[in-house]
Amino acid sequence: MSNKSRNLHPVNLPSEWAPTSWRGRPALQLPQYPDQAVLDGVLGELRALPPLVTSWEILALKQQIAEAQEGKRFLLQGGDCAETFDSCSSEVISNRLKVLLQMSLVLVHGLRKPVVRVGRFAGQYAKPRSSDSETIDGVTLPSYRGDMVNAPEFSEPARIPDPRRMVKGHARSAMTMNFVRALIDGGFADLHHPEYWNLSWVGHSPLADEYRHMVAGIGDAVRFMETLSGAEVHNLNRVDFYTSHEALLLPYEESQTREVPRHWGWFNLSTHYPWIGMRTAAVDGAHVEYFRGIRNPIALKVGPSVTPDQLLRVIDVLNPDDEAGRLTFIHRMGAKHIADKLPALLDAVKRDGRRVLWVCDPMHGNTESTANGYKTRRFDNIGRELELAFDMHAAAGTRLGGVHLELTGEDVTECLGGARELTETDLERAYHSTVDPRLNYEQALEVAMLIVRKHAT
Ligand code: PEP
Ligand code: MN
Repeated sequence: MSNKSRNLHPVNLPSEWAPTSWRGRPALQLPQYPDQAVLDGVLGELRALPPLVTSWEILALKQQIAEAQEGKRFLLQGGDCAETFDSCSSEVISNRLKVLLQMSLVLVHGLRKPVVRVGRFAGQYAKPRSSDSETIDGVTLPSYRGDMVNAPEFSEPARIPDPRRMVKGHARSAMTMNFVRALIDGGFADLHHPEYWNLSWVGHSPLADEYRHMVAGIGDAVRFMETLSGAEVHNLNRVDFYTSHEALLLPYEESQTREVPRHWGWFNLSTHYPWIGMRTAAVDGAHVEYFRGIRNPIALKVGPSVTPDQLLRVIDVLNPDDEAGRLTFIHRMGAKHIADKLPALLDAVKRDGRRVLWVCDPMHGNTESTANGYKTRRFDNIGRELELAFDMHAAAGTRLGGVHLELTGEDVTECLGGARELTETDLERAYHSTVDPRLNYEQALEVAMLIVRKHAT
């Protein structure tokens, strides 16, 4: 196809790539399915189903990410560590959306720039694990790898990978997406009515007061603008919302990869903005090979062991044409390591003149275990890593363009600290995550306020 029909910046077709070419590379973190015939049947079924998103939406998001790379927008990406099939419910989906909308309002107001809103949902069902197996009381079983692969119960049948779970995961993703789209199109995300986003379970909280004060100010501003222009401020009636997940389970992702002639090339149409996890980010690995050929905007998690050379090589593979909006790096170093590890990476990318969006995930480098056996994260460490991230970027002359968080709108006690000063004993009250600990509503809002405060200094 000619250059004219290409969208955004012209790119070259990736050479010798097919949706299946990852199969020739070392593939980490994938399940071993016991029955090839069942797997093949499932993948055939998945290939025939309609897509969950469109290439138009994907390219619109890519444009927004390109603007974030220029400092004109800020990215807010958040949701569960692992969605579960059971949590695909009206309440969980709408509460999570409410928190993200409230956070984005705080950010728009405080940063004075539009926010790119991206959920970790509608497909966040496959998990990488640091160990292939788990031993409890002398019994060893394969690890839980997300509801799309196996079940979290500690029993042998539950832990056998079942390909049919991919069909269920696809359906749950479609239901989640459908409900989010309906809420947003129906007016739920209308800036005239931020009171729609209040969570019923939240009692009195100092943060909520600060938030309500700010919302009242925004309501006044909207009414003022409408009085001046004599019309409703229409683009405030609805917001854009995009989806993302870790595209870990490559057989599934392959089945959702479709050629879109109108937009020249292959797209993953199960999500707008897939990312590569830290454990599968090797430049010669299967995941990088798969991502190389899709035209979605993509992200890569960057952990403390990555060297500047490795980072530049991965840019060569994933964004050889330096396309705007294409590549995001989500650094997740931990509060202890960020000052040592991040500056060299920022310098290398900057010196080479490469275009990326830098995002901070202050969750995954700050995971620890408590004496009473919970996987948790301290709010202080999360906040410190974020503040340090802003400082490191300022010192390097680069820009922190977004934040990536694990959060929920449910009343959980999974992370320590925050405005209510949750302690280790509180973790016993409402710890529901099947994998990593999430920020609850107040902690999430507090992170948004912390970003705004840091930005003002
Ligand atoms: C995650 O985002 O849930 C995750 C596993 O992150 P990472 O790949 O950065 O460890
Ligand atoms: Mn996680």
